[in-house]
Amino acid sequence: MKQRRLIILGQTWTVIYVESLTEGSEAPVYGSTDIDRRIIKIATAVNNTPALLQSTLLHEVIHAVLGIAGVSAMLTERTEEAIVLALESGLSPLVRLK
Ligand SMILES: [Zn+2]
Repeated sequence: MKQRRLIILGQTWTVIYVESLTEGSEAPVYGSTDIDRRIIKIATAVNNTPALLQSTLLHEVIHAVLGIAGVSAMLTERTEEAIVLALESGLSPLVRLK
């Protein structure tokens, strides 16, 4: 299981690459963000290209930023997801996470 560390808003996060994430959902889950434990998980089976891995990691980092900043608490889950998807689409071509 591959792991890496990322600093997000001054906090150390662990990124864990796992084969798959189901979370009881029928639809494929690409990634997850655990704000309390500072853990991002990325599913490698569905993120099967470098571009997908990159954009899913960016997606989860945006969730992390909104969570740490307290913005998530102001949003419904659906609204947050719409904002995160828009930022992911717009920023993915511009950002390279190291
Ligand atoms: Zn999301």
